[in-house]
Amino acid sequence: MAEKRDYYEVLGVERNANADEIKKAYRKAAIKYHPDKNPGDAEAEEKFKEAAEAYDVLSNEEKRARYDQFGHAGMSGAAGGGFGGFGGGFSMEDIFSQFGDIFGGHFGGFSSRGGGGRRVNRGSDIRVKVKLTLQEIANGTTKKLKINKTIACDKCGGTGAKDSSSYATCSTCNGSGYVTRVENSFFGRIQTQGVCPTCSGTGKVITAKCDKCSGEGVVRGDEVVEIKIPAGVGEGMAVTVSGKGNAARQGGVNGDLLVMIEEERNPELVRDGNDLIHNLNLPVTTCLLGGEVEVPTIDGRVKIKIAPGTHAGKVLRLRGKGLPDVNGYGRGDIMIVVDITIPDALNSEERKLVEKLAEQPHFKKAESVDKQNIFERMRSFFR
Ligand SMILES: [Zn+2]
Ligand SMILES: [Zn+2]
Repeated sequence: MAEKRDYYEVLGVERNANADEIKKAYRKAAIKYHPDKNPGDAEAEEKFKEAAEAYDVLSNEEKRARYDQFGHAGMSGAAGGGFGGFGGGFSMEDIFSQFGDIFGGHFGGFSSRGGGGRRVNRGSDIRVKVKLTLQEIANGTTKKLKINKTIACDKCGGTGAKDSSSYATCSTCNGSGYVTRVENSFFGRIQTQGVCPTCSGTGKVITAKCDKCSGEGVVRGDEVVEIKIPAGVGEGMAVTVSGKGNAARQGGVNGDLLVMIEEERNPELVRDGNDLIHNLNLPVTTCLLGGEVEVPTIDGRVKIKIAPGTHAGKVLRLRGKGLPDVNGYGRGDIMIVVDITIPDALNSEERKLVEKLAEQPHFKKAESVDKQNIFERMRSFFR
C-alpha cells in the first residue's frame, strides 16, 4: 500500500480545525467522491474511503488526540502492535454508517441503507494506569496486567443461549432484522428501514437462557493482558489495546483497554519533551581548573570533561542520549546544566588560600562574564 496521507491533509483542514469544519470538509469530499457519482472510478472510491477514514478519526475526540500524538502509528497497530484502530481498512458499510451523523439521517439518492447495518452490543472500555521508569520509556516495554472485567461466558460461547436449539425467529421483524418506518418529512412521506429493536438486527430471539450467565453471555473474571508500550511515550498518553476491554452482552464487540501512561520521577534526569535535563553541581575549583566528572544517562553513568573556566549556567549537550521520539523522529539530548557549589564556611587554612587567591590578577575584579549570554541561554532552556 502507498504511504498513508495525513488525515488533516486528506480533508483539507487545518490541524486546529473544529468539529464543524471537519464535518463540513468531510461532507464535501463524500459528495464529490461518492461511488454513485463516480461509477467504476477506482481512484474516486479510494479517495472516498480515505476521506471516510480520516473523518472517523478526526471526528472522534479520543481517536483524534491519539492521532495527533502518535500519527498513523497510533491508529494502525504498527507501533508495538498495541494500538487499536482499523488495520484492515474501512468497509463501505462502515462508511455508510457514518452518513446518518453527517447527513442528518436521510441520504437521498444514494445507496445507503437507512439506519445502517446490524446494531451490535459493544462492551465498555476499561482504563488502567501504568507507571513507567525512564529506562522503560526509553526502550519501550511489555507489561502484563491482570484485568478484572466481563469476559465471554465459556459455557454458551458468549451467546447467552442454553444451546443451539434455544432460538426462535423474532416475531417483531419476522427474522429480517429490520423494521420499516414511515415518517412524514419536509420531502413528503419517507420510508426508512431501521434495525429491529427486539432482536437488535439478528432476526432471532433466545428462548432458553444459559444457566451460567443467566443469558447475559458474559461473566466476571480475570484476564492477563499483555500490553506493548512503544518507546518514547509520555505522561498522560494512552495506549489502546483494542478488544481487551469488557466483553459485550450476547456475543457483541469487546470494548478497548486504555492504558494511561504515568512517569516515575527520576531524581537526576528531568524530562523536557524528548530531552532530559540534569543539574550538575560542581565545586568552584573544578570550574576553575577543569576536570572529569560523572553524569547520569539512561544507560548508566558516563564521564564527561569539564573545560577550565566553566561558568555557572553553561549547558553541555550529550547529543542523542535523550529519549526516542514516539513517532520515530530521532532522539532527544541530555542537557547538563552546570551549577557551582560554594562552600558554606571555610576553615582558617582555606580562608588564607582564598584570600591569597583574591589578590591574584584574575580575581581582583569580576571577569567580564557575558551575563547577557548566560541569561539568553537560560531563557531558551526554561521557556
Ligand atoms: Zn453463558
Ligand atoms: Zn427482530
